[in-house]
Amino acid sequence: MTTFDTLILGDIRTMNPEMSTAEAVAVINGEIAWLGTRAEAEQLTAQETQDFGTQMILPGFVDAHIHPILGAEMARGFDLSEVTTTQQLDDALTQAAASTGEGEWVFAWGLDPTVIADRNICAADIDRSVVDQPVFIRMFDAHSGVVNSRALQLSGVDGTEQFKSQSEVEIDAQGKPTGFLKEWEAMNLVNQVMPAIPFETRLELFLEVLESMADEGITGGQILDRTDGMLDLVRAAEERGELPIRLTFSPWIMPGDQDEIITEIIDMQGTTGRRWGVDGVKLMIDGTIDNGTSWLSYPDINGQSTRPLWLDPASYREVLLRLDAQGIRTTTHAIGDAGVEYVLDVIAETTQPHAADDKPGHRIEHIETLPDRLVPRFTEVGAAVSMQPRHCTLFCAPDGSDNWSQRLGDDRRKDAWRTNSIRQTGAVVAIGSDWPVAPSDPLAVIAEGELRRQVGKPETEPVVPDEALSREALIAGYTSDRARSWGETDRGMIANGMLADFTIFDQDVFAVDADDLPTVNVVATIIGGKLRRPANTASAAR
Ligand SMILES: [Zn+2]
Repeated sequence: MTTFDTLILGDIRTMNPEMSTAEAVAVINGEIAWLGTRAEAEQLTAQETQDFGTQMILPGFVDAHIHPILGAEMARGFDLSEVTTTQQLDDALTQAAASTGEGEWVFAWGLDPTVIADRNICAADIDRSVVDQPVFIRMFDAHSGVVNSRALQLSGVDGTEQFKSQSEVEIDAQGKPTGFLKEWEAMNLVNQVMPAIPFETRLELFLEVLESMADEGITGGQILDRTDGMLDLVRAAEERGELPIRLTFSPWIMPGDQDEIITEIIDMQGTTGRRWGVDGVKLMIDGTIDNGTSWLSYPDINGQSTRPLWLDPASYREVLLRLDAQGIRTTTHAIGDAGVEYVLDVIAETTQPHAADDKPGHRIEHIETLPDRLVPRFTEVGAAVSMQPRHCTLFCAPDGSDNWSQRLGDDRRKDAWRTNSIRQTGAVVAIGSDWPVAPSDPLAVIAEGELRRQVGKPETEPVVPDEALSREALIAGYTSDRARSWGETDRGMIANGMLADFTIFDQDVFAVDADDLPTVNVVATIIGGKLRRPANTASAAR
């Protein structure tokens, strides 16, 4: 008779429509080998038993979109996300400079552009508080940054720079850089002269983030970016012990990337460690609405967001079709409706099997504004989608006073984050956080995907409440549908042959009131049959 490694008991919700509940699951070699009732389980032998009583066991939650390595740079230095006035900005920067060594770089992040009305924040706004030290502030959308005069001087940025992507060093009427830098290539000019974060520090920060995600009930995440030495970093992390969550790397290919970089990324596919692997490629067709760099079918209120990130989108098409021909899955950041449509048109040309066998070959990230006519097209071309409900609830004010809504105007605000309309067409919708752009806690993401407003604030008006997803759809977005969105057949459900990855909660997460979801505790996560308890039961970083 078979001896199982582990027998796990509890209120099991499989997310498998063929057998939606169970009371016991048995694991061998990190995989699910048996599923049944408590009574049936009494007949089994296992080396160990984990009995969770009436607590709820779900397939391990996987965040479809995270940046745990790049995050160290994206969230470097002082957190300005609570700053709402110029006075607060001055105070925060003065304090940040005072607590940084003389002449050293001051880093900050998370700043909301609405802190300065009617124009982009510029060097003079920072010079007011910090003159002798170079300052770099990354804006909250991570797609733009602002530096002070000292940093401009050190980097030699003079406003005459040319880019391979739709990046921009903003200049004033005299042609001098204002200090505002749009998109990666422009920010890189300054990044090059900043002190790099030491490898050991990056490793510590990386592991810290993964631990806190595991505390929140996450068992896996898809890393959608590319950072120097990222595989060295994950290998070093795995030398120390098991990763707290599984990781899928889908490195990005950016406009202007040379052929040798593209080849390197293609060759990297299939590289694996114990709990990580490289699978697929991230692409970006545009920037963000907040930054005026998304690709809209007609301009925003400032006359911006009219172009793709690729100076010639045909080069994007070429890269995607080349990857597709090699059987490599892609996911494309597409925020504006013109960008989304372009990506859909390219996906329509792909040849890899997708909708037909229920394995979408390609995916689209974000989709922040979408007219009716484009809603049915995801299923038509077999594209999966990946959306982040808290980009809507945290950064969109229900009264339309925020930068995103202002730029789009009233006619387009109603087309915000159409999660429900898209899912109703039968499209596969994966859910995620885009950490560190928004917090990673999946229960808060689920609550706000359903409420369309911030959790615990019932007095707040929701943003386009018709686009709310059901609890079931949101949980599927972290489990079964997330796996389908990436063509993964070995996870996302509790069924025989699947990886033994589970997330265990102390309450029924299908039944709890959405505003009470933050009171649900993560009891444990299990990866490949290995149990991990959260550092503290009231999980961190809410
Ligand atoms: Zn992202």
